[in-house]
Amino acid sequence: MPAATRYELDRAALGELLADEPRYRADQVWAGLYEQLADPGELTNVPKALRARLDQELPPALRLAAESVSHDGATVKWLWELEGGARVETVLMHYRDRTTVCVSSQAGCAMACSFCATGQGGFARHLTTGEIVEQVVRAARRSADTDRRLSNVVFMGMGEPLANYDRVWGAVRRIHGDLGLSARHLTVSTVGVLPGIRRLAAEDLPVNLAVSLHAANDRLRDELVPLNKRYPLDALAAVCRDYLAVKNRRLSFEWALIDGVNDRPTDVRELAAYANALRAHVNLIPLNPTPGYPTRGTPPERVASFRDALEALGTNATVRRNRGTDIDAACGQLAARLPGGTTSVSVPVTVTRPPPPSSSPPPAPVL
Ligand code: SAH
Repeated sequence: MPAATRYELDRAALGELLADEPRYRADQVWAGLYEQLADPGELTNVPKALRARLDQELPPALRLAAESVSHDGATVKWLWELEGGARVETVLMHYRDRTTVCVSSQAGCAMACSFCATGQGGFARHLTTGEIVEQVVRAARRSADTDRRLSNVVFMGMGEPLANYDRVWGAVRRIHGDLGLSARHLTVSTVGVLPGIRRLAAEDLPVNLAVSLHAANDRLRDELVPLNKRYPLDALAAVCRDYLAVKNRRLSFEWALIDGVNDRPTDVRELAAYANALRAHVNLIPLNPTPGYPTRGTPPERVASFRDALEALGTNATVRRNRGTDIDAACGQLAARLPGGTTSVSVPVTVTRPPPPSSSPPPAPVL
């Protein structure tokens, strides 16, 4: 009978599980799982019988359903099947100066943002802490196997992290404490779940906060991000201000540029005013059209002029490169279908060892 999935147990619980073994065994196994990022079967320093027992009692939480690698090798996407059949995705992105994994915090999402593929599919279930940590471990292992070091984790995959607060925060603590990533390299992204942001402000680890803004007037934001009706922009700004005051971390706003919807001159002015009041950094990304919201993203030349107009008003803004579009791994396109669903999952492409990324992305903040 499995005791738990492999990355659900903390160090003390692993010690208890292995209480009948010599004490140093738990240290060896812990180092194997968290330093070598190894499967129990690979732990050649522990006896074979114990390896077999660990395989039985600590099975992985994530079963690989598909893996896709972008043509340039710099982006890898995994589709995992979880206990119970729900599916989630994880995206690993190598940049020149950092390697970032984008993890899912829920299977599906209840926030129902109109333009987001995950939101269009509805909510399935929360992920456990172990399921989140294991996504990071798998990405860290792949990175190490290709001579890269995983440096950043962003909670920007499927789900609303602050709607699954305790398990997400449990994962943050484990990623920081057990995998050794610095809190300043961890970013929690939210549509603006204000009680969650308040709780984050009270935590001891200063993670980065990203808010998916997309509109800086309530009428438009109510349409794009329905949670805005509950937590409108003024209240969001007040809570963000408190976060900044206690955490001293940079706040960023995500803004998916939608052709003719939130890329007009009035949008620039509203966004600049809102962001400047909080000294927030703006990440711009052209919308990826999704089945339920087929409007196109703002074309590249107008993305650049939107950024320039923001900069002219004193707002720092970066155009984010659209990573992974050729493998459906782009922002907002993560929508794993349940078996029998109408949309097929991305076709696994040939998996080869990715070449070192040669393209030079523009300097991007946080991510
Ligand atoms: N629920 C959290 C975490 C998901 S992050 C949040 O919303 O912040 C996923 C990011 O991709 C968010 O910034 C989201 O607004 C953005 N996104 C969603 N759909 C998109 C799309 N179709 N094109 C571009 N970005 C999108």
